[in-house]
Amino acid sequence: MIQLKAGREKSLKRRHPWIFSGAVQKVAGNPGVGDTVEVKNSSGNVIARAAYSPQSQIRGRIWTFDPAEEIDAAFFRNRVMRALAMREALPAAKTGNALRLVHGESDALPGLIVDRYADVLVAQFLAAGVERWRDPILDALVELTGCEAIYERSDADTRKLEGLEPRAGFVRGNRLASRCPIIEYGLNFKVDVEQGQKTGFFLDQRENRQRVRALAQGREVLDGFSYTGGFAINALAGGAKRVVAIESSGPSLEVARENVAANAVDPEKIEFIEADVFAHLRKLRDAGAQFDLAVLDPPKFAPTAAQAKNAARAYKDINLLALKLLRPGGLLATFSCSGGVDAGLFQSIVAGAALDAGAQAKIVERFSAAADHPVALEFPEGEYLKGLLVLKG
Ligand code: SAH
Repeated sequence: MIQLKAGREKSLKRRHPWIFSGAVQKVAGNPGVGDTVEVKNSSGNVIARAAYSPQSQIRGRIWTFDPAEEIDAAFFRNRVMRALAMREALPAAKTGNALRLVHGESDALPGLIVDRYADVLVAQFLAAGVERWRDPILDALVELTGCEAIYERSDADTRKLEGLEPRAGFVRGNRLASRCPIIEYGLNFKVDVEQGQKTGFFLDQRENRQRVRALAQGREVLDGFSYTGGFAINALAGGAKRVVAIESSGPSLEVARENVAANAVDPEKIEFIEADVFAHLRKLRDAGAQFDLAVLDPPKFAPTAAQAKNAARAYKDINLLALKLLRPGGLLATFSCSGGVDAGLFQSIVAGAALDAGAQAKIVERFSAAADHPVALEFPEGEYLKGLLVLKG
């Protein structure tokens, strides 16, 4: 049992799923890592049931606000079923075969991420609660999706905060995991679920890649932070005149080249450059290079608000350089996936970059994560990806 301090049940009344250590008055019954505990308010009434995580600042993650609901294998099967049902209605479920099936807190499964790449699932157990229920969750996933192979990528840093060891490898079935083929709006991509970033592919950018494809006709395109060529290949498929893609990871570029070969696009029109984007944009600027469409999709520079200041400097730097590299009439699709930089701050950073670049620029569109990455209204932390399409005047 966890009892909250007086006045600290407010966030739970709004159905926010986290209990921070500072809100806890007392813990009784000596619960272990991942155990289910009753949550009592300061008057002693049970208001929820949660997973207990003794080492984490997030001491509890709520399973249910119904104190009578049993937390058992059937509970998780039911939650997984609800998450799957929500995806069935999405257009991306019909046109492609790669989808985020479970998006953590926003699917009422705190700490659980599941992505589907054709017939392979990739799961991340990032909190003590889901770790505890790992086997019933894996069984439910196999049963409800029909996928026999599940690769676990529980190797994200956030597990350390929960006192959990990293773990990776097949936990159900087996496949060639280094190159899982998927289809996204008619384009072929290979996903390295073993060594790739996160679970192997950035599904959250699916609709934005599609948008870039629609904008690319006849343009010279720059793709900064290209990873396995997602935006670059979409630009080519959309009729780009040429594409320059910059990425610092050699193994990612290897997959990117295979991805070009797997599609009906002209490999002569794309140049992959293994380099640091910050340095290479300067090189391009000094060489007088010019583009009509630039994409900037960097990794998260600020996981939390504490890193926002340094992150702001980094975002401003690359956006300033990209704006300088654009011809008048050019478009910049610029993204931030930093939880610590909200949409308002990101916009003001890009505004500062335009000012310093001496560019007249306006926002013509806004981007967010695809619909298989929903944001539960009671969990605004779930809204991490934002982007702007900026037109240089
Ligand atoms: N746009 C991609 C995803 C980009 S993820 C897609 O749609 O699939 C961010 C990428 O930036 C990662 O591949 C990472 O290796 C790369 N990266 C991180 N820092 C970098 C830097 N300083 N220079 C170049 N690439 C970098």
